[in-house]
Amino acid sequence: MAVYKSKGIVLRSIRYGEADRILDLYTRDAGLVSAIAKGIRRTKSRFGGRLEPLSCVDFLAYEGRTLDTVTQVEVLRSFHGVRENLKRLEAAGGMLSAVRALSGGDEADRRVFNLLYHALDALEGRETGFEAVGAAFALKLSILAGYTPRLDACVSCERDLAEVTGEGPLYFAPPLGGVLCAGCRSASREAGLAGDSYPLEPDILAALQDLVVRPIREVVVEEGLEESVRRVVASHVLAHAPGNAASSNASFATPDRRTLRPA
Ligand SMILES: [Zn+2]
Repeated sequence: MAVYKSKGIVLRSIRYGEADRILDLYTRDAGLVSAIAKGIRRTKSRFGGRLEPLSCVDFLAYEGRTLDTVTQVEVLRSFHGVRENLKRLEAAGGMLSAVRALSGGDEADRRVFNLLYHALDALEGRETGFEAVGAAFALKLSILAGYTPRLDACVSCERDLAEVTGEGPLYFAPPLGGVLCAGCRSASREAGLAGDSYPLEPDILAALQDLVVRPIREVVVEEGLEESVRRVVASHVLAHAPGNAASSNASFATPDRRTLRPA
């Protein structure tokens, strides 16, 4: 049985039997891992600190057929400042869901681990703007997962968005992975391909572009736009989550742009 050591962030921690816990972790070296930690709830548990969701831990485990077994664990950082504030916790909960939705399987990605760690750190360190951190996290995660949203040009005709202003409103088309210009949107609607596209206000687009480029510690979303930004990001994540019906027939991976070009 292969023994390995890694750092991980606890996504979920479920009681199992008298004294055990089953943990889902996003690890730095092995991606998503499910593991059993035995004897954790005994008072003199060798695991010491509590293994709650969001905790960042250093652990030693051996591989099992379905579940790995954690033999040693040390809590490096508990992020209790996130857990103890409802708004921060909500934002963190959304981040953990995005990790589950976009991390398909065994692939380890240190960048995902680092992004999650820095996002939790950013949440704990600030007093406002938690939604901005959550939205920035999900956008950056979608980019790491290979689903970079197209926010600079129309996903269909590929014209720069600066060129198409004045032709009508812009739309966001989650299954297509980005912005559609007015012309392409009506053409694709006639062909029955626009799916769930919806209008995207210029200030929301600017906020999304800003979230992509700014380091996660520094992200801000103008007051009043947070909910709209969150909804666009959530629709993007949902459309590309592996196993989601909307993503399996999406033309995002192999876009057939010809069918979407305006006549
Ligand atoms: Zn277009």
